[in-house]
Amino acid sequence: MDRRFSAIFIFKSLLWFIAPIGFLGWLLGYFWPVLALALVAVLAWHYFYQYKLVDWLWHRRAMLPPRAPGSWSYIYDGIYRTQRRSQQRRRALVRLLRRFREAAEAIPDAAIVFSRTGGLIWCNKLGQFYFGLKWPSDAGIRLSNLIRHPEFIAYLRQGDFTHEIHLPSPVNADVELEVRVMPYSDEQFLLIARDVTQLKQLEQMRKDFVANVSHELKTPLTVLQGYLELLEQSDALPPAMLNKAITEMQGQSERMSHLVNQLLSLSRMEISRYDLFERVVDMPQLLNVIATEMNQLNQAKQHQLSFHIDPIKIHGFEDELRSVVINLIANAIHYTPAQGVIEVSWRQVGDEAEFTVTDNGPGIAAEHLGRLTERFYRVDKDRNSKTGGTGLGLAIVQQALDHHHSRLEIESTPGQGSRFSFRISQELIIKA
Ligand code: ADP
Repeated sequence: MDRRFSAIFIFKSLLWFIAPIGFLGWLLGYFWPVLALALVAVLAWHYFYQYKLVDWLWHRRAMLPPRAPGSWSYIYDGIYRTQRRSQQRRRALVRLLRRFREAAEAIPDAAIVFSRTGGLIWCNKLGQFYFGLKWPSDAGIRLSNLIRHPEFIAYLRQGDFTHEIHLPSPVNADVELEVRVMPYSDEQFLLIARDVTQLKQLEQMRKDFVANVSHELKTPLTVLQGYLELLEQSDALPPAMLNKAITEMQGQSERMSHLVNQLLSLSRMEISRYDLFERVVDMPQLLNVIATEMNQLNQAKQHQLSFHIDPIKIHGFEDELRSVVINLIANAIHYTPAQGVIEVSWRQVGDEAEFTVTDNGPGIAAEHLGRLTERFYRVDKDRNSKTGGTGLGLAIVQQALDHHHSRLEIESTPGQGSRFSFRISQELIIKA
């Protein structure tokens, strides 16, 4: 406040006005009437500026107060200053609020603020996206009316927010949300929801993987155990039975060691590699070695097995590419009935190099094609478990191809045959 403005100042001002007029009244012999008239004038003056003040406060938009003399100038200026100060504070608050909202928008989770009674106060864009909320039009509406999920409603009603809950997004049931609520002032609560769909899927995959491995190992172990018990109980088995038991046990232990080897190569491949461009694979040489091995494997079924190999070398991991090629050719040999036709080729197609294995085997129905590279996926589980398949071969192929920025393409017509192929992009091809 202005230092000059005080009770003494008001008193002095009044005295300076009243005293000369009173003196004049006394000279004229009308002291009291003149004094009363002067006081009425003072009152009218005050009413006038009071009216101007009210008019300015309620009806004018101008920030600046109207001009006023005497003590009213202090009142007007005082109000003006207070208004300026609160306007500055309001601006600072708006800036702070904007910054808070920008920060809340930047977090990768849905954030919803609601009151003790459950009314929506604010939500960020992800909150609108995951829960289908509309802000600001939904402001004030109870969350339990906006998100109509029984578990969520019960969670809000109980008010025990020490644990989180999981629920599907009301907008997209495939999205699983983890919701937690935190009270952050007496009257307000912050709800944070994050998309845990992938985590859930990974968790499910892990469980399925463990269940599959256990199942795959259990079958041969049960067979082995059965034969061992048989051998233990009967002292002298007829030679025919003994031979059968030994062959069967050998088969099952081979099956187990094949499965374990495949699991090991999958886990080895999971370790990411960075030095792809530092390695060179002489594909023609590798394929020639594999051709000899595959001809050996083909002895039993006597397929017509042919190789067409262009002289293309690439950057890559030799052990992984060997595994890819062997898996694809061995599958063709394995699944094609005896004396089929299998063609293997490694050739230039446009800028890229393409590897293909084509057979005239039983083919694969369209509904299986998209799932063949899943771990443990087999078209005919019963038949393949008898014939030794684990369902891991094509998963290994895809994993290895991932490291070469490639993917397995499968074309197949039931009853006619299949074509498995992958392409290596031009950056990985070594110019001759
Ligand atoms: P598996 O160890 O069972 O062979 P893969 O992952 O290598 O596992 O193959 C998955 C499934 O794809 C097999 O169970 C088989 O049914 C099918 N499959 C793979 N290659 C061929 C092929 N050349 N012809 C027909 N079916 C095939």
